[in-house]
Amino acid sequence: MYDVIVVGGGAAGLSAALFASKNGLDTAVFDTDKTWLHSAHLFNYLGLESIDGDEFLETGRAQVESFGAERHQGEAVTDVATMDDGFHVTTDADQYESRYVVLATGSKRALAEGLGCAFDGDVVDVDVTMETSVANAYATGAMVRDEEWQAIISAGDGAAAALNILSKEKGEHFHDFDTPEDAD
Ligand SMILES: Cc1cc2nc3c(=O)[nH]c(=O)nc-3n(C[C@H](O)[C@H](O)[C@H](O)COP(=O)(O)OP(=O)(O)OC[C@H]3O[C@@H](n4cnc5c(N)ncnc54)[C@H](O)[C@@H]3O)c2cc1C
Repeated sequence: MYDVIVVGGGAAGLSAALFASKNGLDTAVFDTDKTWLHSAHLFNYLGLESIDGDEFLETGRAQVESFGAERHQGEAVTDVATMDDGFHVTTDADQYESRYVVLATGSKRALAEGLGCAFDGDVVDVDVTMETSVANAYATGAMVRDEEWQAIISAGDGAAAALNILSKEKGEHFHDFDTPEDAD
C-alpha cells in the first residue's frame, strides 16, 4: 500500500508528489500527460524568469523522482473508491491502494464525483488545506476553481495538500523548511 497516490502529473500533482516524497512518504503519481503545460510558456511563475512548459515538466518530473516518488507515466486512473483504511485505485493496467489520495487531474472532475466528494456548484468543494468532504482525499488545481487557472496556483494547491497529509502523519503542524546549510 502506498502512503499517497497522486492522480495527475501537471503542476499540482508533481508539487504534491515532491513535498510528500521529499518528506518520506511512499508516493506514486499516475499521469496521462495531457497537461496544459505542453501548450504553455511561463513568464509568470515567481522565481523563474522564462521557461517553456515542457522544460518545466521535465525538471519537475526529475525532481520528484530524485526524492523517490514512483511515476506511472501513461497509466490512466479509471476509478478511486474508499475502503476501510484508505483508497482503492483502479487504473487501465492494475489496482493499487493508498492511505491518502490527491486528485490533480486539471479541470477533469469525474474521479472526484465518483469518489463522492461534495461540490460547490461546478467545482469540487475543498477547505484551505485542499481536503475534500471525503477524509484524506484532496483536490487541487482547476477542478477546485471556476477560473484562476495558473501553474503557480496549482503547484501551491498540491503543496498545501501534501503538507496537510504530512501534518496528519507527524501529528503536528509540519513545515518543510530548508536553510542554506542544507544545500550541497
Ligand atoms: C495555451 C495555454 C497557455 C497557458 N499559459 C500559461 C501561462 O503562461 N502561465 C500559467 O501560469 N499558466 C498557463 N496555462 C495554464 C497552466 O498550464 C495550468 O494552470 C496548469 O497546467 C494546471 O496544472 P494542473 O496540475 O492543475 O493541471 P494539468 O496541467 O492540466 O495536469 C493534469 C494532468 O492530469 C492528467 N490526468 C487527468 N485525468 C487523469 C486520469 N484519470 N489518470 C491519470 N492522469 C490523469 C492529465 O493528463 C494531465 O497531465 C496555460 C494553459 C494553456 C492551455
